[in-house]
Amino acid sequence: MRTRKYMEDMVGGQGNVLTHHKTIKDLEKYYATLGDNKDVKEFLNNVTSDKEGILHLFPWSGIVDEDSQLSDTFRVPDPQTGQMRRLISQIPPKEEEMFRNMIRRLNTIVKAAADLDVRIMVDAEQTYFQPAISRITLEMMRKYNKDKAIVFNTYQCYLRETFREVNTDLEQAKRQNFYFGAKLVRGAYMDQERDRAKSLGYPDPVNPTFEATTEMYHKTLSECLRRIKLMKDCDDDARKIGIMVASHNEDTVRFAIQQMKEIGISPEDKVICFGQLLGMCDYITFPLGQAGYSAYKYIPYGPVEEVLPYLSRRAQENKGVLKKIKKEKRLLLSEIRRRLMRGQLFYKPKGNYVPI
Ligand SMILES: Cc1cc2nc3c(=O)[nH]c(=O)nc-3n(C[C@H](O)[C@H](O)[C@H](O)COP(=O)(O)OP(=O)(O)OC[C@H]3O[C@@H](n4cnc5c(N)ncnc54)[C@H](O)[C@@H]3O)c2cc1C
Repeated sequence: MRTRKYMEDMVGGQGNVLTHHKTIKDLEKYYATLGDNKDVKEFLNNVTSDKEGILHLFPWSGIVDEDSQLSDTFRVPDPQTGQMRRLISQIPPKEEEMFRNMIRRLNTIVKAAADLDVRIMVDAEQTYFQPAISRITLEMMRKYNKDKAIVFNTYQCYLRETFREVNTDLEQAKRQNFYFGAKLVRGAYMDQERDRAKSLGYPDPVNPTFEATTEMYHKTLSECLRRIKLMKDCDDDARKIGIMVASHNEDTVRFAIQQMKEIGISPEDKVICFGQLLGMCDYITFPLGQAGYSAYKYIPYGPVEEVLPYLSRRAQENKGVLKKIKKEKRLLLSEIRRRLMRGQLFYKPKGNYVPI
């Protein structure tokens, strides 16, 4: 609330610095009467802007900085007195410590991934946690995706807001000059989302039908492809946008391949990859890999007591996937038969791994 009030005062109405195109000059005007105040001067000295001059009002990078305190990150001078005040309540030291530990671990993981040149995909969860996850992931992208997309955020296309959200983040990546990585999924928590919205009386955040979710998925993917193509045509680095099509839906995988062909993005461009869960839909993953597309298996890894509940939840959420397993078993049997007849029982196609 305090943040929204401050933002509205500063921009002079609803919206934010982006929608009002506010620059550092505007902020200086806002504090003009307090020009000699030491705190205000220091605050204004530390404020930065992006390459289009739009203000970074809050130093969001502070949230992924291992040494700065979360509650100190969002401090601004009071426009009347110039005294510094917090926009978020002071967090108890124990929680501050837990948050910092999490950020430290995240930094360790992402640094290791960057050293090994592998990608980090941060999963998306329910909408009531997701804003924090997305914010931190985007800051990690800003910090680590300077020369390539190492960190990927996940976008759930069953949500009504996803197209808008992906566009906003793509714009931020463009303005702030970092590589954007996105894993596109349909979304795994539909029933929970709907039940919670109903019981607390807020609008259902999920698209009304499966078809609407598919439309959202395809529209979002097409927009990413359109932007990649634009960069390719301008001789810009097309890898500034990297997308994982994470789906077991054959129509969606076909749609992605078709769109890539139509607009002239090849598997060798290494900007689009595909992902399916380990043990599911190998009949989609393997042919993709053999046709030269980057194709990944998502492997749940960890202590058995944590992985099994995860897998059973996924099986519950993805009942449709279980039907696909029947198809998979049928295809596997016919492949075994084919190999026996051709004497290729231990045939192993060669891959050529280059990460997207
Ligand atoms: C590699 C990988 C990573 C994943 N990571 C995540 C993650 O980080 N976060 C996450 O939430 N999920 C994740 N998932 C799961 C994913 O969101 C889907 O639940 C799952 O893949 C099924 O969708 P589909 O596109 O594969 O197949 P499909 O069977 O075609 O689609 C089923 C999905 O459609 C949507 N849907 C079904 N009925 C309706 C309806 N009536 N109205 C609106 N929408 C409907 C739901 O999202 C449902 O899960 C991941 C999946 C994969 C393969």
